[in-house]
Amino acid sequence: MAETIFSKILRGEVPCHEVYQDEHVFAFLDIGPLAPGHTLVIPKEPAETLDQLSDEAAAAIGRVLPRLCRAVMKATGCEQYNILQNNGTRAHQAVMHVHFHIIPKPTPEQGLGIRWHPGKLPDEEGQAMRQKILAALE
Ligand code: AMP
Repeated sequence: MAETIFSKILRGEVPCHEVYQDEHVFAFLDIGPLAPGHTLVIPKEPAETLDQLSDEAAAAIGRVLPRLCRAVMKATGCEQYNILQNNGTRAHQAVMHVHFHIIPKPTPEQGLGIRWHPGKLPDEEGQAMRQKILAALE
């Protein structure tokens, strides 16, 4: 995996506002917050996108993510938030090291804005896609 700013943060070569770390996980404040408390949660394991992450590192993030959400919400007094996890530049990933955003949504204007254009799922398309995913999971 190519070197990223997050590798440097993990090595302590670039400063950050650390809020949590354990054997597998590191969390710190986003330098360009969409709202106060915007936090990034990253695996210490180097992986560009979520699908490349080991089960062990993924489990470690999953174990601590709800606790970090509770802490950010308590600290900000905000009750609503989004978890954002981008994979690939077209999907808005700027830093190519897996990361989860915890983004408080204190007001309609602050936090994550989402454009959502839902399509339709005809039954045959749903069945065909389900079969492909089931085959890919084998
Ligand atoms: P993404 O678009 O999902 O790749 O988001 C990358 C995030 O990393 C952005 O929200 C940036 O503000 C944040 N970021 C980049 N450099 C730093 C840094 N040195 N410290 C903290 N956050 C950073």
